[in-house]
Amino acid sequence: RDKAGNSSGLARIRVVVRKRPLNKKEILRKEEDIVTISDMDSSLTVNEPKVKVDLTAYTERHEFVFDAVLDQQVSNDEVYRSTVEPIVPTIFNRTKATCFAYGQTGSGKTYTMQPLPLRACGDMMAIMQQPNYRNQGFQLWLSFFEIYGGKLYDLLNERRKLCMREDGRQQVCIVGLKEFRVSDVELVKEYIDKGNQSRSTGSTGANEESSRSHAILQLVVKKAQEGKEGKEISRVVGKISFIDLAGSERGADTTDNDRQTRMEGAEINKSLLALKECIRALDNEQNHIPFRGSKLTEVLRDSFVGDSRTVMISCISPNAGSCEHTLNTLRYADRVK
Ligand code: ADP
Ligand code: MG
Repeated sequence: RDKAGNSSGLARIRVVVRKRPLNKKEILRKEEDIVTISDMDSSLTVNEPKVKVDLTAYTERHEFVFDAVLDQQVSNDEVYRSTVEPIVPTIFNRTKATCFAYGQTGSGKTYTMQPLPLRACGDMMAIMQQPNYRNQGFQLWLSFFEIYGGKLYDLLNERRKLCMREDGRQQVCIVGLKEFRVSDVELVKEYIDKGNQSRSTGSTGANEESSRSHAILQLVVKKAQEGKEGKEISRVVGKISFIDLAGSERGADTTDNDRQTRMEGAEINKSLLALKECIRALDNEQNHIPFRGSKLTEVLRDSFVGDSRTVMISCISPNAGSCEHTLNTLRYADRVK
């Protein structure tokens, strides 16, 4: 969506909603699917079940319009095509791109996010094989880290704790972050799987804890050049970051009995609010981007300046029991749009 209101795959900011199907549990509980989608005009309606004081039931309808709405039968492949694919070639032309998955735990963020870098890598490698790119010294590098409780951990290096530094030219540098040069899509899949396995699992089990962290996978295009005394140096050309955000409902954990949980909830709340403010500032072409609001936005600082592209994929659950979270997610997406 550009300033004229046109939605295109190359818009600076694109907000897409993806609805997942009802799962087995929800079907067994006979939960109602309260989300209806109209591809025609990219609109979506939430039919909120309500009861009046005299106990008669009624439905309150909430309508939203986005750049695209993806219904439950839409495949991951189609998600890739409508979100990341159009951006990929621009990475070779200095663009910094970010793709976020936002939504409550269980809404399909990881399901949506996992295959995207793999597809992007494949396309980037194909581009690097093209005649006018082949001999230009392009290289592709991958890193994968996590922000948990405001701290950074390397998911491809035994969860080593990392710290962030800014160089004089507003470039973000994550000290000690392991980067891997990639030239084979199969290997990329291994990195992604390995990284996902090292995500915070805590003592309570997989999903519970990973829902409190932001996982960031970056693909960086570099160009090798001859430096001083014939030494090869490589310079960053562009990059794309895939961010599987913490469960949006976790930002409300600020009244939990457990102190650690409360602190993590506050951090998540802060980062999701800061992210929204940064994207809005980008959209308004403001000179001042409030990236200092959180660790997440600080880390992404260099992706919010210059020629940047942002794709927000808002994931929603269709069941009546998730209505409140679904409305919160859609209102967040609506504010970003
Ligand atoms: P989140 O990362 O937001 O917590 P997940 O991606 O783990 O959620 O999804 C929760 C469950 O729903 C998983 O078992 C996943 O396989 C399933 N799921 C999510 N989205 C879809 C979809 N579009 N189609 C089919 N199954 C889905
Ligand atoms: Mg997940």
